[in-house]
This record gives sequence, C-alpha cells and structure tokens, in this order.
Amino acid sequence: MQITSAKFMRGVSGTDELLSDGTPQVALIGRSNVGKSSLINSLTGQKNLARISDTPGLTQEINVYGINHKFYLLDLPGYGFAKVPERIREDLQKLNWWYLFDSPHIQHTAVLVLDANVGPSKNDTEMLALLREHQKNIVIVANKIDKIKNAEYAVRLQAIIDLAQGLPVIPYSSKTGTGGEKLANKIF
Ligand code: GDP
Repeated sequence: MQITSAKFMRGVSGTDELLSDGTPQVALIGRSNVGKSSLINSLTGQKNLARISDTPGLTQEINVYGINHKFYLLDLPGYGFAKVPERIREDLQKLNWWYLFDSPHIQHTAVLVLDANVGPSKNDTEMLALLREHQKNIVIVANKIDKIKNAEYAVRLQAIIDLAQGLPVIPYSSKTGTGGEKLANKIF
C-alpha cells in the first residue's frame, strides 16, 4: 500500500478509546535508539512526523499515527536503554507488555526493528521469543543497513535471517530509503 496520508493522533499510556475503534494496528517494537522515529518519518515521507532524538529512552507513551485513514501505526517505547532511570524503564516495560500481551488489542502486525549493523541484542532476542510465543504476525526490520561495511553485509544480514527462522526480514535504511516500499506493502 502506498502511504498517501500520515497523521499523529496522540500518545496513549493505557486503555484509550482510540485503540478500540476497530482500526487495524501495526506495532513498531525495538530497543531505544534503533531508529524507529527515523523509520516512521522515512516511511511516511514526512520529515518531522516523529521526533528523532539523540537522547534515547524519552518516549514514555505509545505514539499513535494514522496511516491513510485505514491503519494505526503504533510506536512503542524503546526498551533496553541503560541511561533511563530504573523506575521509568520498568514503567515502559509494563506499558509495552500491557499493550502487546495483556490488552485486548489485536495487532495486525508486530514489527520488530533490529539494528542490522550492531546485531540483535539479548533484549531483542527475548522480545522476539515472546512475540512468537504469543503467536503474533511478526515482520522483522533489519535497520540501518547503510551503516554496514560492504564486506560485512552478507554476514550481518544472515545473522538476522538465522534469528528470524522463516519470518520475513526486510533490510531497511531511513538514510537511503532502501526497503521503504517493501515494508509499506508488507505491513499495511
Ligand atoms: P528511536 O530511538 O528508535 O526512535 O531512534 P531514532 O530514530 O531517534 O534514531 C536514533 C539515531 O540513529 C539517530 O541519530 C538517527 O539519525 C540514527 N538512525 C536512524 N535510522 C538510521 C538509518 O537507517 N541509518 C543511519 N545511518 N542512521 C540512522
């Protein structure tokens, strides 16, 4: 699906009528600083739709974006950033957990965003296992591929393909736009 309109709806931190209005939901999940904000901006073609921050871990709500008046794209708080105070980290984890595993909301797709240059972290692997356990419709984004040296590209990508065990993996770069069309077609 080609994205023709994208709009920030609001941030939610729990039960909200927005999430119960029947619009299919696509959840973006990933560790802090993995590039989710940049991905939202590049995918929608709107430079400033999502705030890109060099101070990760500050998003304490689930930001909901309306796509083509047909889907909600949900940016879940990034996990695993050490500099965020423990209490806030726990709250964010609770919010993610509630939305993904405890709330009645059924995700159309759960998009796990990984840093392809750094490789999957322990938190990423745990999150993927949980998503599988809860039988989510999972798509994996191998993000920041522009950062990978040519000589290392095949190995880095293979590490993610191995982890994915048959789930779709989409190489992506917000910087070059690689993967944008493929991702939009896959998740919407
Ligand atoms: P978030 O915390 O997941 O929302 O991450 P951001 O979108 O704020 O990005 C974190 C940092 O990674 C920023 O400095 C971005 O410019 C950078 N970044 C994000 N995506 C890419 C990408 O595809 N390629 C490169 N080279 N840098 C990226």
